[in-house]
Amino acid sequence: MINKILVLVYLLTYHLQYRFARILYIVMESQTAHVQWLNHGCNTIMEELAHPQELFLSHRCDTYSLHHVVGKVTVFMLPDANTIIKLEDYFCK
Ligand SMILES: [Zn+2]
Repeated sequence: MINKILVLVYLLTYHLQYRFARILYIVMESQTAHVQWLNHGCNTIMEELAHPQELFLSHRCDTYSLHHVVGKVTVFMLPDANTIIKLEDYFCK
């Protein structure tokens, strides 16, 4: 079985924090991206109970300049028990 893979970006926010986000659309004229946030487990109520590679979809979105994008990460959506997730990758259930 092939898991759905999502490519996320890693943004440096206006609050100077690094956060994961999914690009919903890009507006070329303004060089901005409308993004949906994903939270890392350690920033949620679960804190250290969360797996270090687990991300949680948030319902919040924002518009950011493309210049804030600092990298790309691979996220496996709904991985099953056989999915091998490398140390540099993440997953979301
Ligand atoms: Zn929105």
